[in-house]
Amino acid sequence: MLSATERAAELLSGCQDLVVLSGAGISTESGIPDFRSPGGIWTKYDPEEFTYQNFVSNRAHRERYWKMSLEIHPVLAAARPNAAHHAVAELERRGKLRAVITQNIDGLHQLAGTSPQRVIEIHGTALAVTCLSCGDRLPRQEVQARVVEGEAAPECRLCGGILKPATISFGQAMPERETALAFEHAESCDVFLVIGSSLVVQPAAYLPVRAVESGAKLIIVNLEPTPSDRMASVLLRGKAGEAMTSLLEAMGR
Ligand code: NAD
Repeated sequence: MLSATERAAELLSGCQDLVVLSGAGISTESGIPDFRSPGGIWTKYDPEEFTYQNFVSNRAHRERYWKMSLEIHPVLAAARPNAAHHAVAELERRGKLRAVITQNIDGLHQLAGTSPQRVIEIHGTALAVTCLSCGDRLPRQEVQARVVEGEAAPECRLCGGILKPATISFGQAMPERETALAFEHAESCDVFLVIGSSLVVQPAAYLPVRAVESGAKLIIVNLEPTPSDRMASVLLRGKAGEAMTSLLEAMGR
């Protein structure tokens, strides 16, 4: 009888049009904590506070946000891709990968070598900052340096508008183009591979459901059970880095 890894490898070997959905769990082995596991970011900060509405309506909230970023951003900026990100890049080199839909804001898929045009960042990116008034876009490191130097809530130097990291905050509308693209890919792939997502945040949680309803096989790699486990053809319960390395080995060259 085949092991779960061998069954997943068989599915990937036979697939032509793989779509990957990654969540915070793919990046914990790169040193970026996820939201929900014990010791995660939100055991330390109250997510209810860091909403889009608070950010735009109240300077004191913006100052608290940027203060929190002094602790969190250096971790993100120093993070390097791990074996799971590299495995996804390898799947592209082997001609399997159509797209990576990521809930992550850390840019690690692109750093691992996945083509940027194949990465759909449905929750935006922490590596850029945008002006909410004129739409100017700046590298995060440039704005973060201003915060380190003492600007409590940096404003746009072109128009004086509010500067906000280009991430999708709680309470903020999902990006239309990326969300539509994510569903298009989910509905037209032959294998949908989830790596490191609790699959409880919408609309990402609905993507594997749409993929299976549209005929794709579902593989889930996660440390903990997810609400979509019963729909999966193969479940790999374990650390993403190890699971993905074993999966590539089982596929052979
Ligand atoms: P989540 O925190 O809800 O779930 C992460 C899942 O990954 C959990 O089920 C956990 O068991 C699993 N996990 C943790 N470490 C793992 C590992 N080494 N291998 C395999 N599985 C592992 O994350 P989510 O579902 O992605 O959603 C939360 C939101 O938080 C996302 O929308 C994302 O925008 C944001 N977020 C992003 C980052 C990042 O960019 N790296 C980090 C934290 C949160």
